[in-house]
Amino acid sequence: MVKAHSIAVLPGDGIGPEVIAEAERVLEAVAERFGIDVTLQHFPVGAAGVAAAGDPLPEATREAVIKADAVLLGAVGDPALDKAPRHLKPETGLLALRALLGVFANLRPVSVHPALVGRSPLKAERLRGADVLIVRELTGGLYYGEPRGRAASHAVNTLAYSVVEVERVARIAFAAARRRRRHVTSVDKANVLEVSQLWRDTVTAVGREYPDVTLDHLYVDTAAMRLVTEPAAFDVILTENLFGDILSDEAAVLAGSLGLLPSASLGSGPGLFEPIHGSAPDIAGRDVANPIGAIATVAMLLRHGFGLAEPARAVEQAISLALDQGARTRDIAEPGAPVLGTRAMGERITGLIGEEQRSRASVA
Ligand code: NAD
Repeated sequence: MVKAHSIAVLPGDGIGPEVIAEAERVLEAVAERFGIDVTLQHFPVGAAGVAAAGDPLPEATREAVIKADAVLLGAVGDPALDKAPRHLKPETGLLALRALLGVFANLRPVSVHPALVGRSPLKAERLRGADVLIVRELTGGLYYGEPRGRAASHAVNTLAYSVVEVERVARIAFAAARRRRRHVTSVDKANVLEVSQLWRDTVTAVGREYPDVTLDHLYVDTAAMRLVTEPAAFDVILTENLFGDILSDEAAVLAGSLGLLPSASLGSGPGLFEPIHGSAPDIAGRDVANPIGAIATVAMLLRHGFGLAEPARAVEQAISLALDQGARTRDIAEPGAPVLGTRAMGERITGLIGEEQRSRASVA
C-alpha cells in the first residue's frame, strides 16, 4: 500500500497565499507523476490567524500541525499589526509555531543558478562555485532566552545555550556535510561571549564523531565579510540563532533575489518548510511575487520531510529548466525583458515536472 503523507498548509499573509498556491500546484503534479499519496489541509497563521481566531497561531492550527507529517508555510507579517501587542503580532505566531514543533535546525541552501549570475550584486568571478548550506540553530539563543523585558529606561534579552542544544544542531550540520563537500565552518563570537566558547568547545567535540568532515571556526564578523568576498570557500555554515538569521539573509543576496530560496526546519517531529522571504506587503496581491522559493521548498519537504529524493530532484530540475529557458518573474528579469506573473511561473515549472526524466528516457 502507498504510504499517505499529510501536509498542513499554512499560507499565511501577504504574498504567502500566492506563492503557496504555486507550490501546491507543483506538489500535486509531482505527486501524480511519482504516485505519492499526499493530502493537503489549510489552516490560518499570522495576521490571517488573528483575523480568523484572534490568535496568530490559533488552537485549530496548533492541533493540525502536530498531527501532520509536514508543515508547508508561506510567510507571516502585516504592517497593520506592527503596533499590535506582542501576543497579537504575526511574528509571535511564527516563533510559537517553531517552538511548538521543536524544529531546532534550520537548513537554508544558497546556490546561484548560472543563468542568474548577472542578477546578483556580486561580481560573476566571486560567485563561481558558490554553493552554501547554512544550518542555523532555531529554537534557542537570544530570541527565546529568559529573562527578557523592557522598562522605560532599559531592556533585557538573554543569550543562553546548553550543550545538548548545540550538540543536536551540530550533528545535523555534520550529517549534511557528509552528503556535500565534507566541510563545516562553525561561526561564533568566542573571543567575546562565554556562550560562544561553549558553542565552539561543543562543536569541536561533536566534530570528533565525524573525522571525515573538516571543521573550522570563524568569528561572525569575519564570516560576514568572507561570505561576500569568497562565498565559494564555504560548504556548510553552522551557527546560532541570531548570527544565522543575519548571515542567511546576507547569503541570500548571492542568489539574486530573496524570492528564490527555500528552507527546512527540522526537529524530532514534523518538519516546517517555508521560503525564506517574508510576506512582502509591498507586492502582495499583484501576481508579481516569485514563487520559486516556495516551489524549491516543496523539494526540501519531499527530501527532508518524506525521504523522497527522486521527486525532490524532479522539482529542482523543473525549476532549473524553467530558468534555463528564460522564464523570469519581475525580481530576476533583466530590465525591459518579458516577465511572468506568479501563477504563470508556477504553471511553467509544473509543466516541466518530469521533463528531465522524459528526455533521458527518449535518448535511451
Ligand atoms: P520580505 O522578505 O517580505 O521583503 C523584502 C523585499 O524582498 C521586498 O522588497 C519584497 O518585495 C521582496 N520580496 C520578498 N519575497 C519576494 C518574492 N517571493 N518575490 C519577489 N520579491 C520578493 O521582508 P520585509 O519587507 O522585511 O518584511 C515584510 C513582512 O514579512 C514583515 O511583517 C516581516 O516581519 C515579515 N517576515 C516574515 C518572515 C517569515 O514569515 N518567515 C520572514 C521575514 C519577514
